[in-house]
Amino acid sequence: MFRTILTREPDGTLPAFTWPGGYPLYYLCADGGTLCPACANGENGSEASEAADAPADWRLVAQDVHWEGPPLSCDHCGAAVESAYGDPDARRGETDGTLDEAERRALHPEEYES
Ligand SMILES: [Zn+2]
Repeated sequence: MFRTILTREPDGTLPAFTWPGGYPLYYLCADGGTLCPACANGENGSEASEAADAPADWRLVAQDVHWEGPPLSCDHCGAAVESAYGDPDARRGETDGTLDEAERRALHPEEYES
């Protein structure tokens, strides 16, 4: 049986950030869904649980740092979990001028409003 080991705060809640480091944490459910820390803690009407008999879409199986990439969105409440280092693809285009027109339009829609 897969054993879940989730780090908890001294008060028993699941942390939103690592300590030390302050890196953003997200939570994975047995069905592959992603939960934000609030929903992992049962907020927003969430039924998240580490119990072995919890339904797969609520059973917490892992917590991990979201190191890099676009923000994750919580499958329950839709909250964004920002990555520790941002989205390298967006950053690359912003800094070295390699954006093509479609990418630039996605990043700066206001420049294309007419
Ligand atoms: Zn959430």
